[in-house]
Amino acid sequence: MNVTPQQVLDRLAGVLSPRGVALTGADVLSEIVVNGDKVFFSINVEASEIRAWEDVCAQAEVAVRAIPGVSVAMVALTAERKPGSAAPPRRSAQGIPPVSTHRTPQNPAAGSPMARQADIPGVAAVIAVASGKGGVGKSTTALNLALGLRDHGLRVGLLDADIYGPSIPRLTGIREKPHLNDDKKMVPIGRFGLAIMSVGFLVEEESAMIWRGPMVTSAIRQMLRDVAWGELDVLVVDMPPGTGDAQLTLAQTVPLKGAVIVSTPQDLSLIDARRGLAMFRKVNVPVLGIVENMSFFQCPHCGTRSDIFGHGGARQEAERLGVPFLGEIPLHMSIRETSDSGHPVVESEPDGPHTAIYRVIAGRIRDRLQGATAAA
Ligand code: ADP
Repeated sequence: MNVTPQQVLDRLAGVLSPRGVALTGADVLSEIVVNGDKVFFSINVEASEIRAWEDVCAQAEVAVRAIPGVSVAMVALTAERKPGSAAPPRRSAQGIPPVSTHRTPQNPAAGSPMARQADIPGVAAVIAVASGKGGVGKSTTALNLALGLRDHGLRVGLLDADIYGPSIPRLTGIREKPHLNDDKKMVPIGRFGLAIMSVGFLVEEESAMIWRGPMVTSAIRQMLRDVAWGELDVLVVDMPPGTGDAQLTLAQTVPLKGAVIVSTPQDLSLIDARRGLAMFRKVNVPVLGIVENMSFFQCPHCGTRSDIFGHGGARQEAERLGVPFLGEIPLHMSIRETSDSGHPVVESEPDGPHTAIYRVIAGRIRDRLQGATAAA
C-alpha cells in the first residue's frame, strides 16, 4: 500500500517543536513529497533558532521512517527567510547562510564554518568535481576520472550531488534503487567496481527540480551520512553546476580534501571556472587543478584534430591563476556515445586513447592528494 502525505502529517503531529507545539501546527513544514516508499520534506525555521530544531528534525525523520512502507525519509532543516519575516538569515563571515548541522562527535570547534564538516567514517578523502556552469561535461568527467582512479588501484566511490539534474543514473545505466542495510543506511550501488550513489536513484528527475538551495545541502549531507560507503580511498562528488549559495554551502558542508574544476575552452566558461576557483578558495578547499574538457575536436573518422574552440585557454588561465593544469580531454563522439549509453569510455574502451588521458589526469589527482596528505 502506498504511503500518503496525510499519513506522514499524522505522524508528524506527534513530534513537538522546541516550544512544545505539534510540528503540524508550527507553520514550518514544506509540502510533503512522497515518491513510492520515499518521503521528502523540509522544516523551514528562523535562522536564529536552527540549533534548537536539530533534534526535532532528527525526531521527525525517525517518526516518518517508522511508518510501515517508508524506506527513506529525507528531512531538510532549512533557514530560509519566510515571506514577510522581518529578520534576514544571519550570515557567516563568508556570506553563507547558516544551515542545519546534524552534529557528530568528530565535529571540530563549533562556530567555525568548518565545524559543519564531519569526516565520513571509512572514507579517506572526499574530492569535488565542479564547474561554473552546466553542460561542460562535468558529470562525464567525474565518472571517467573516478574510473581512472580505480585503475590506479584505489577504492573509489561516486556521489552524484547534482541534485538539480542527476545524470549519473544515465551515464552508468543504473536503474535499480539502493536498499537499506540493518543499520537503516542506504547501500550504494556497485557498478564498474565503484560504490555509486545518486539522488536520481531515489527521485525522478522532475521531482529533483523542485528542490531548493538549502534543501539541496541537507539532502547531500544526508547522502554522505546515511549511506554505507564502506572503506574508500577516494569519494568523488559530482557537484551541482554553478557557484551560487547552494554550491558554496555544499563546499563548506562536505569535508573536501580538494576540488577539480572542469571547464571548456570558451571564454565564457573560463570566466565561470574562475568563479568556481574563488568559491573553493573562500571555503579553504584546495583546488587540485583545472581540466579542459572538449578541449579540441578529434574527427572520429580520420583522427584529425581541430581546435574549434580556440584550445589552450584553460591551461593559460590555470597558469595565470597559479593552479595546476590537469589535462585536456578532446571532444570526441566515442566519449559522448559511451557516456550517454551508460558505458563510460574508461570502462568500455580500457585500451583506448581517451581512457589513457583520463588515467593520466586521475594519476595527477592521486599524486596531489597524496602530496597533500604527506604535507599534512
Ligand atoms: P554536465 O555534467 O557538465 O552538465 P555532462 O557530463 O552531462 O555535462 O555532459 C553533457 C553532454 O556532453 C553529454 O551528452 C556528454 O556525453 C557530452 N560530453 C561530455 N564530455 C564530452 C567529450 N569530451 N566529448 C564528447 N562529448 C562529451
